[in-house]
Amino acid sequence: QLPEGPLGLEFKQVNFSYNEDKPVLQNINFAIKPGERLGIIGRTGSGKSSLSRVLLRLYNLDSGTIRVGGTDISDLTLPALYRRVGMVTQDVQLFDGTLRDNLTLFNQDVSDQIIKETTDRLGLSHWIESQPAGLDTHLKAGGSSLSAGEAQLFALTRVFLTEPSLVILDEPSSRLDAATESMLQSAIDQLMKQCTGIIIAHRLATLEKVDQIMVLGDGKVLEFGAREEL
Ligand code: ATP
Ligand code: MG
Repeated sequence: QLPEGPLGLEFKQVNFSYNEDKPVLQNINFAIKPGERLGIIGRTGSGKSSLSRVLLRLYNLDSGTIRVGGTDISDLTLPALYRRVGMVTQDVQLFDGTLRDNLTLFNQDVSDQIIKETTDRLGLSHWIESQPAGLDTHLKAGGSSLSAGEAQLFALTRVFLTEPSLVILDEPSSRLDAATESMLQSAIDQLMKQCTGIIIAHRLATLEKVDQIMVLGDGKVLEFGAREEL
């Protein structure tokens, strides 16, 4: 029942806590239009990652409503939500299985040809080709064979292959080398062209490309507005 194409997003009076004693998100209200990019900045512990976790329904809200494409996310099934909303976090979760399954999350509709095209664009082909059996290579859960930059590219590729309509990117603050950084940046730019984007930004380069900026502090929205106005 979600509309096609990029999805808008609305938080209405959202309150959330992991433990009832300590509020983590307090009365969060904002909206972004389909296709817009929102950058979220704020100190460590201000609630940025928590905001993305509740959007993916990894936790239930204490109160309030989150709407994606006009629909309350609690009225969607998780598969319906995850088909349209993707998240890239700092650490990529690998599971026991082939490299192919780790990239496609078992979606049989994603052909090797599509994987090839996508990894060529994102700069991950070289790493895949260096694996003993290419896409058939068996990966282990928690696999440490990826460098930090490669893990990010891997996570981005995985999200690309699901063709999300809304994507949340929780950027690492760690420093990557200049070549990986610019490869990641152009991958992010490509991904964002096709969908609505929320970027938890640590890098100045990404902040230049967002439409709106939210400043979070202690679980509250301190500022929200067009990038030029802040
Ligand atoms: P950073 O910039 O360091 O990534 P952040 O803005 O993403 O910080 P969150 O991870 O959202 O911050 O954390 C917000 C608050 O929630 C912090 O006080 C943190 O200690 C707490 N918190 C985060 N995850 C959990 C959890 N799984 N259980 C309990 N408390 C948590
Ligand atoms: Mg975080």
